[in-house]
Amino acid sequence: MALAAGPEAQMGKLVITNIGLLLSGALEAPLLDADTIIAEGGKITAIGKRADLDTGNARVRIDAHGCALSPGLIDSHVHPVFGDWTPRQNQLGWIDAFLHGGVTSMVSAGEVHLPGRPRDIVGLKALAITAQRAFTNFRPGGVKVLAGAPVIEKGMVESDFVELAAAGVTLLGEVGLGTVKAGYEAKEMVAWARKAGIQSTIHTGGPSVPGSGYIDADTVLEADADIIGHINGGHTALPLRQIRCLCEGCHRGIEIVHNGNELAALTAFRYARELNQMQRVILGTDSPAGSGVQPLGILRMIALLSALGDAPAEEVFACATGNTARMRKLDGGLIEVGRAADFVLMDRAQHSAGTDLLDSVRKGDLPGIGMVIIDGIVRSGRSRNTPPADRVPEILA
Ligand SMILES: [Zn+2]
Repeated sequence: MALAAGPEAQMGKLVITNIGLLLSGALEAPLLDADTIIAEGGKITAIGKRADLDTGNARVRIDAHGCALSPGLIDSHVHPVFGDWTPRQNQLGWIDAFLHGGVTSMVSAGEVHLPGRPRDIVGLKALAITAQRAFTNFRPGGVKVLAGAPVIEKGMVESDFVELAAAGVTLLGEVGLGTVKAGYEAKEMVAWARKAGIQSTIHTGGPSVPGSGYIDADTVLEADADIIGHINGGHTALPLRQIRCLCEGCHRGIEIVHNGNELAALTAFRYARELNQMQRVILGTDSPAGSGVQPLGILRMIALLSALGDAPAEEVFACATGNTARMRKLDGGLIEVGRAADFVLMDRAQHSAGTDLLDSVRKGDLPGIGMVIIDGIVRSGRSRNTPPADRVPEILA
């Protein structure tokens, strides 16, 4: 299969037919009864059965050959710096590697690995605004990186948050990575941020690397950030009873990450299911981190939580797509008319013990990705990072 020419050649109508399984990204109805999707101008315009849709005049036509299609995966927790480089592990091309793991959008939890990162207030604001601009203007591999997430420090006042919001900043970096570590201090700044329209995430658990901090459940609850960042630690987790308190004691996002404690991940996931709070569960990698860069991290979390958390794979895919898009206010994440045409096409990996894609994930295997599409544009063909699948989509025209 040859990829179509550059993005410009793909503008116009995109038609994908012969979809064998359509994952919606919505927890309440995770599977859709349709085999065809049409997109125009980077947005989904129709979903249904091929015979019922106008599939003519396509600029790009894709035969899914029976593969499954999911909304592009969203990594809720990354630490980008600039471009497609990370100084944490001195790696180039890490975001493009994530594209080959099905990730079409990423959310920054702070550009904390920048060598010499400014910690004075004017400096941290300048960095956040610069990162927001830089990743808006440059998408490595086509991946949408929502960045510009300042790490709050003591001495910030309400007008700082108003100024950041006016400049286009929509996120805070993980609360607790700077000098603001006490619950009462964090609470005041999180509230200022929320009032200004800026979303917040708090670091949870032990310090990640030297220089980072310890945040317990009482502090998380008092700070009341929108997202309980890595509830399973990054890597050191809180005692499991504190994780239970976090699930029961508030309604904020329950973010489970790859770069965390697996037992705590499964425990938080099971609590959320038991409490009927699955709509709060979102997934991240927290990479680049001390443990490295995990291009298949979101897929690995989906397989881990489905297999060991005993949950239908399609529901865990919804956590990694629709849930995250809703909580992070992103334009993708759901197969719905008007949403961004961000798709992953995949199938059961060759020789998996599972009978089909969902069964293979439920058995702990990773799917084989055959194509990734962002804003209606084919960004990669068969993944260089996942195991190969039997079936691979094909560009017909
Ligand atoms: Zn953290």
